[in-house]
Amino acid sequence: MPISETKLIWRNGEMVPWRDATTHILTHCMHYGTSVFEGMRAYNARHKGAVIFRNREHMERFKFSARVYKIAINFSIEELMQACRDVIAENGLSEAYIRPFAYLGYGEIGLASQRCPSEVAIAAFPWGAYLGEEGQKHGIDVCVSSWRRLAPGTMPAAAKAAGNYLSSRLISIEARERGFTEGIGLAHDGTVSEGAGENLFIVRNGRIVTPPAASSILWGITRDTVITLARDLGFEIVEQGIPREMLYAADEAFFTGTAAEITPIRSIDGIQVGSGERPMTTALQKAFFGLFTGETKDKWGWLDPVESSALRARAAR
Ligand code: PMP
Repeated sequence: MPISETKLIWRNGEMVPWRDATTHILTHCMHYGTSVFEGMRAYNARHKGAVIFRNREHMERFKFSARVYKIAINFSIEELMQACRDVIAENGLSEAYIRPFAYLGYGEIGLASQRCPSEVAIAAFPWGAYLGEEGQKHGIDVCVSSWRRLAPGTMPAAAKAAGNYLSSRLISIEARERGFTEGIGLAHDGTVSEGAGENLFIVRNGRIVTPPAASSILWGITRDTVITLARDLGFEIVEQGIPREMLYAADEAFFTGTAAEITPIRSIDGIQVGSGERPMTTALQKAFFGLFTGETKDKWGWLDPVESSALRARAAR
């Protein structure tokens, strides 16, 4: 997917022109994957204008990932949240994908480097439905990958670090080459983990089930959103290890993620999911997207208004 360029990128506390946000080829992270990042979305909410979805939780996870790898982020959660709002406002965006990242920069080549400077940047650009508009409406066809996810004690799956995405790339490429839209990774013990860039949920006998933190998953913010919305709707939802064959016994299945939002799964390994009816997935999609129309009340304070004078001035023009 080509990137739609915008004007400005926030970098170490300042806005720089998009084209000037470059780095040296001997940057530490380019060689060792020593970078942590976030993926978040701004929505143009019908009742609130531009809002960043769960800005605080994303910035908290960002700081957590950096802590694990000892990559310094010398900005507070509040400063980072404001920088995200500024990137949206300064680029005149109302709906966008936001990509904050922090990485070890240029200066040293050693693995345990303590002196490499850390760099923090936040970019934002328009990005539609990751798994396609059609997919979001009608469901996607997925497969179980031959690649396992990261095993416990190898790399921390819950830290959103660049290196983890080599596993995701293998799963995603294999799926596309086999004619599927996305791949599901199994955990080290053969139970179900997650999609290449999404968390996975199934519905069976009226109960929603999703793999627990111990199944090598990223602790997805959309996953947490769906768990909260499901409980609010009175649905039963549990975190539980899922054997592979349970995928084929599911009545419904869906992926969640910032990029994928809530995407129904139509088939797994060529086996149709349930009857094709998806009442619970549809109810959750309605509750989720309702947050941005006002039909779902934001009881949790998840919508962070961009509310910038720059943006208001642009909207008025
Ligand atoms: N798992 C992986 C591996 C991911 O890359 C993502 C996307 N960030 C998710 C799950 C979903 O996480 P979130 O809902 O926080 O975007």
